[in-house]
Amino acid sequence: MLKPQILLVTYPAQGHINPGLQLAKRLVSIGVQVTFVTTVYAIRRMNKTSVPEGLTFGSFSDGYDDGFKPGDGDDIYWAELRRVGSQTLTEFLVASTEQGKHYSCIVYSILLPWIEKVAAAANIPTTLFWNQTATMLDVYYYYSNGYGDVIKNNINDPSFSLKLQGLPELNSRDFPSFFVSSNPYPFALPLFQEQIEILDQQSHPRVLVNTFDALESEALKAINHKYNVVGIGPLIPSAFLDGKDPSDKCFGGDIVKNSSSSSSKDSYMEWLDSKPESSVIYVSFGSMSVLSKPQMEEMARGLLGTGRPFLWVIREKEEEEEELSCIKELEEQGKIVRWCSQVEVLSHKSLGCFMTHCGWNSTFESLCTGVPMVAFPQWTDQTTNAKLVEDVWKIGVRVNFNEDKEIVDGDEIYRCLELVMGCKEMASNAKKWMELAREAAKEAGGSSHKNLKDFVDQISHV
Ligand code: UDP
Repeated sequence: MLKPQILLVTYPAQGHINPGLQLAKRLVSIGVQVTFVTTVYAIRRMNKTSVPEGLTFGSFSDGYDDGFKPGDGDDIYWAELRRVGSQTLTEFLVASTEQGKHYSCIVYSILLPWIEKVAAAANIPTTLFWNQTATMLDVYYYYSNGYGDVIKNNINDPSFSLKLQGLPELNSRDFPSFFVSSNPYPFALPLFQEQIEILDQQSHPRVLVNTFDALESEALKAINHKYNVVGIGPLIPSAFLDGKDPSDKCFGGDIVKNSSSSSSKDSYMEWLDSKPESSVIYVSFGSMSVLSKPQMEEMARGLLGTGRPFLWVIREKEEEEEELSCIKELEEQGKIVRWCSQVEVLSHKSLGCFMTHCGWNSTFESLCTGVPMVAFPQWTDQTTNAKLVEDVWKIGVRVNFNEDKEIVDGDEIYRCLELVMGCKEMASNAKKWMELAREAAKEAGGSSHKNLKDFVDQISHV
């Protein structure tokens, strides 16, 4: 029998490419041929290692093949991505057909709702790959289906909270930042609403979510009268899930890596090797968030206050870091890098806690490696992820901003770090979730493996 072929398209950002690539590898491992596609610029910069047979790469242009120019504005980028991408992805599909490819399905990640029209024109079915939590999918669903006004009208009231079916009670600060009208990205919410409208028009659409059944059991079921929401995660390299010495250590999706960061890998892994078990604080804010200079100073104060070793990823240029007033003390106590192989770091036995911006990949990677967190959310779904970390999974604590709501003081950072580093209960909860994540991913009886196989069976029989 011919193997089914899937075109997997992701938005060109690290947080989409990493889990997308892992999804591609899982699909290949169950007998699917996958073409992984993102923009020309991103695909060129991807580190394509450990590529299994059956996985190939392709690209389409977003009009910025030499990179998006900072300052052009995300709204301009998203409009261009849609306009140029619709055309170039269509051309890609025509060329694929000419080469004899017949895709059973186009699987695409969030922020790309325009792919529906491209796929419809080519007569190819689609499936959404929701690379945030199931909770987030429900929140956007509820927002577009009856709760938009109540949320919009009350979101600025700090005492506002709402209990929605299948979700924990959410306070105004727990909702995604895009619901606040003053958020600096007013063009983001309409993209999510458009995506929900598309799903609403389909008959019980299957949505593949990077989560697993035991982690979000209620959220996965909450809207099952409308959508078939299935957990297929965790999408991190399987080598980190089976507890063995990882052979497939590289994510392969590392698009923001630069030469200075790659050369430092041995040095930070060796540095971690020299630290006692569960002693190191890892600090990273993902691939996009940048802390203000005053916030960096407060972070430094909090870290120095603990007296503990730390590994801090600062992506900014060296000059800016040099400006940190206590750089010498920081370098004595900890290690600063521009980028690291995050899952490898989180898997290291010296790790005691992760101070994270709560991007879903970072949060999930921490959960899957059993590392408790200090949640320091910035925007988008990170606020909701922080709520889940603290109150639902109980594997971390969320920082409080100062009264001006602009900064988290060094004292607060110190308080949260000490709390998490000293908390046996969070450490044991983190280990529990790690075990459950590994169970879900298992080929023998794992819920996520089964869900993904069901999906493949379904598209193979259309
Ligand atoms: N990452 C990494 N090294 C770093 C920082 C981040 O490998 O120094 C990876 C991290 O493992 C995760 C992704 O980049 O897979 C970031 O995704 P996330 O959703 O956490 O945050 P975003 O970058 O989208 O804000």
